[in-house]
Amino acid sequence: MRLKLAIQKSGRLHDDSIALLKESGIDIGNGVNKLKAEATNFPLELFFLRDDDIPQYVEDGVADIGFVGENVVYEKAKKVEVAYALGFGKCRLSFAVKKNETFTGPNFLAGKKIATSYPVLVQDYLDKNKVQADIHEISGSVEIAPGIGLADIICDLVSSGSTLFMNGLKEAETILDSQAVLIKRGSLAPAQEVILEKLLFRIESVKKAKRNKYVLLNAPNDRLEKIISLLPGMKSPTIVALATPGWSSVHSVIAETDFWEIIEKLKMAGAEGILVVPIEKMIL
Ligand code: ATP
Ligand code: ZN
Repeated sequence: MRLKLAIQKSGRLHDDSIALLKESGIDIGNGVNKLKAEATNFPLELFFLRDDDIPQYVEDGVADIGFVGENVVYEKAKKVEVAYALGFGKCRLSFAVKKNETFTGPNFLAGKKIATSYPVLVQDYLDKNKVQADIHEISGSVEIAPGIGLADIICDLVSSGSTLFMNGLKEAETILDSQAVLIKRGSLAPAQEVILEKLLFRIESVKKAKRNKYVLLNAPNDRLEKIISLLPGMKSPTIVALATPGWSSVHSVIAETDFWEIIEKLKMAGAEGILVVPIEKMIL
């Protein structure tokens, strides 16, 4: 029994999808330039597709699971479950107005022409805010629509905002924060659920590892108590005696988020020779 995974063939999600599988120890055998590939060391078969088609393929059972942006999942509204947030492909679906205009709230949209590739999500937003506007669906280069007189406003994906800026537009209001997610069909065979659990366990340990650093430091024994109190660690830190009498080496794991703060406190508490090492996998 194999699990069939659909990922983007090429584009913004492709490289991160492949990298995540690699970091999860999954080797993709016969290259990624085809429509399909098989993992050589995990019961996974890969399909390379346009991102827009992935929810449909998963609903139909051509693929069992997929990596795709939430923006696409919610726009397509297929019968699929969002099983896991993958943490890459982060972007926002936002309204953008001409740079000399001021977005004053949902009513600003009333009666306007909105160009977007996301008519379903935009209509949802309009309905929720009880506003009527004219949606023009276009499939690409939405940002040029106001400049050529096709629309007053656009609703499009933004990450840095530089594309908007280059087209004389500015971001006005976000209607969805998006990232790549793992979607699945509701009804997988029990053996496939087991494979999916194994895959998610691996992905989770890769993600956890990225959020943490392994720290080694030297400390005089009379400062150990203070230093240990600063270190969270997975259980408690490892203490090893150094060859120099009265000194120990302390090993621990620190979260990326409060990393610098803890390092500064450690130095003040008398820690020396601090080494910080990336963690490849983290299994708790
Ligand atoms: P395909 O040929 O597969 O249809 P595409 O042109 O629709 O590709 P990409 O531009 O590669 O798609 O974007 C794929 C996904 O990457 C988007 O649906 C979104 O989830 C995510 N993404 C992240 N940042 C951005 C961004 N700044 N602009 C557009 N998409 C982004
Ligand atoms: Zn697409």
